[in-house]
Amino acid sequence: MAKWQRRKFILGLASLTLAGPAIAADKIKLDAASALIVVGVQNCFLPGGSLAVRDGDQVIPVINRIAKGFITVVITQDWHTPHHVSFASSHPGKKPFDIIKLPYGDQMLWPDHCVQGSEGAQIAKDLDIANAALIVRLGSNRDMDSYSAFLEADKKTHTGLVGYFSERGVRSIFVCGLATDFCVASTAIDARHAGFKVYVVEDACRGIDARGSLAKAWSDMTKAGVKKIRSSDLAA
Ligand SMILES: [Zn+2]
Repeated sequence: MAKWQRRKFILGLASLTLAGPAIAADKIKLDAASALIVVGVQNCFLPGGSLAVRDGDQVIPVINRIAKGFITVVITQDWHTPHHVSFASSHPGKKPFDIIKLPYGDQMLWPDHCVQGSEGAQIAKDLDIANAALIVRLGSNRDMDSYSAFLEADKKTHTGLVGYFSERGVRSIFVCGLATDFCVASTAIDARHAGFKVYVVEDACRGIDARGSLAKAWSDMTKAGVKKIRSSDLAA
């Protein structure tokens, strides 16, 4: 292509991106094979909670909006026993965000959070997703943590969610919620490993970012083939 032709072509592209219909054509259309996983939008992870994610409450209106476009919606709920192995308080001399070695690998320690049946473990009251048919509770084995909606931290114990999605004909999974660098990232990467097409809706997530965890999580997700999108990329 000659230089002037290339310029004309690029100008043409520029005008295309300004036009409404061209943008709409680029949007992701949801169908019966698309599912949404809403991760950990619970009181403990919201401002004021025991393991608050900064601006965690800001994901709620975005999630409420996008969830209406999905037929299949699954919610995950962190749901720990008292004295859970992931709590710093269970390890004398340790403090939150320390990392210890456990039989299944490295474990970052957390403040006590999302204890089964507690107010902190409740799903945020402003989350308005009537079409969520399934709640997957995570981390209820006292001796093992679980960030992912698919596999516990040993990466061997399945939650059964792959089977649920497969039986419903789901092929594309969209992940949102809290926190980007832990439960969202683990869920997204395991979904890729299970063979799904995976998108993380960035503006419907917030991260904790402890010890560089947010940048690492995005790098790991990208390497696994997870696509980063924004809620505005979804066709209305
Ligand atoms: Zn937890």
